[in-house]
Amino acid sequence: TKEDVKSYLFRNAFVLLTVTAVIVGTILGFTLRPYKMSYREVKYFSFPGELLMRMLQMLVLPLIISSLVTGMAALDSKASGKMGMRAVVYYMTTTIIAVVIGIIIVIIIHPGKGTKENMHREGKIVQVTAADAFLDLIRNMFPPNLVEACFKQFKTNYEKRSFRVPIQPNETLMGAVINNVSEAMETLTRITEELVPVPGSVNGVNALGLVVFSMCFGFVIGNMKEQGQALREFFDSLNEAIMRLVAVIMWYAPLGILFLIAGKIVEMEDMGVIGGQLAMYTVTVIVGLLIHAVIVLPLLYFLVTRKNPWVFIGGLLQALITALGTSSSSATLPITFKCLEENNGVDKRVTRFVLPVGATINMDGTALYEALAAIFIAQVNNFELNFGQIITISITATAASIGAAGIPQAGLVTMVIVLTSVGLPTDDITLIIAVDWFLDRLRTTTNVLGDSLGAGIVEHLSRHELKNRDVEMGNSVIEE
Ligand code: ASP
Repeated sequence: TKEDVKSYLFRNAFVLLTVTAVIVGTILGFTLRPYKMSYREVKYFSFPGELLMRMLQMLVLPLIISSLVTGMAALDSKASGKMGMRAVVYYMTTTIIAVVIGIIIVIIIHPGKGTKENMHREGKIVQVTAADAFLDLIRNMFPPNLVEACFKQFKTNYEKRSFRVPIQPNETLMGAVINNVSEAMETLTRITEELVPVPGSVNGVNALGLVVFSMCFGFVIGNMKEQGQALREFFDSLNEAIMRLVAVIMWYAPLGILFLIAGKIVEMEDMGVIGGQLAMYTVTVIVGLLIHAVIVLPLLYFLVTRKNPWVFIGGLLQALITALGTSSSSATLPITFKCLEENNGVDKRVTRFVLPVGATINMDGTALYEALAAIFIAQVNNFELNFGQIITISITATAASIGAAGIPQAGLVTMVIVLTSVGLPTDDITLIIAVDWFLDRLRTTTNVLGDSLGAGIVEHLSRHELKNRDVEMGNSVIEE
């Protein structure tokens, strides 16, 4: 019908606009690069992109809460239990496959040949121990204060550093003040650099805690019969309203993506610093991610559902490009929802239930990268890893990917856990920072793809429960 044609054009206009944005953004970025903009000018220039990030982030929190509560409430406990199990099995399986691919690829290609002495270093490294991070992760599942959990929170994972410059006896008071102020300023910058986002957080907000609470809450109100009706309707309509806001932001998204990409290209380091090993490392990560995203995940989707994975992935294009542009899987979440529900027709009860959890804990790209990068660092140190250590790396890489927040370069922070677990120097993370902004975009895209195909797979596996529930609900409607 005419409506169908219109909506078809509408959808494809989006994809077309988004792809155009990537191309124009890239060209614009490279055109403006020679002008060597100052930090401030780059900030001004990328402003439309920053706005997109902020708009998406604005919706993430109410979206996670409302979708999980309604998602859980819409399922009976048996269905949600089964669906939850399937999602967890999928997340674990794909994450482990990703880690194994990372390990095999980095061993075969061996990008770390040679020594690290001539490699370029960048940035500073934060120390986090595996035990601290693990306990934080569990701790954050149970926020003592739900309201506080919605605010930005940071955790300092290292000893406090004090600053005090004693006043020298013969020093003027003014001189002492100036000394103290500059010392204080320096320490302040040092501390802010060292602040670590809490594990399982989204934009510094304790998303994991909210996920756990919303699931329990949704489960409870789903079982409350009439008494729960008001709450079910409230969260349902809240969710609807947020999704309408997402639809508005989607119109702005291509412009934002254009400037995010152009801005990054303008400000990125000259590629001159990238030596042979780092270039090989970049290629190795790309190959690993491609194998996982283009071969393994689509194949798995096909084997389980017997449907064409490429049609499904085609429907996800806008989400994937947003992931590429924002390098944050949680900022992409609103768009992922839209693509899955509207383009791919995935049941809302499934997306609402599995997507928020997936975006928080399921990160195939990050897991692959963590294992691969750790082994690369071992290679440049000529550090022979035994089998036990490789197993340790795969376990900690899995854990680190679960703990990594869905924000730009979070994987780099949790990398520390993987390295300490086998005694590799954490300072060597500085060797791979120069290319991380780029690899981060690719692994974020892989993360979003993994979550989305997971929703498709879980929906397929749960089709009987969903149908039964429909019949059940239909019956109750007739009874009323
Ligand atoms: N940026 C990634 C994401 O949002 C996390 C990472 O740094 O690996 O999914």
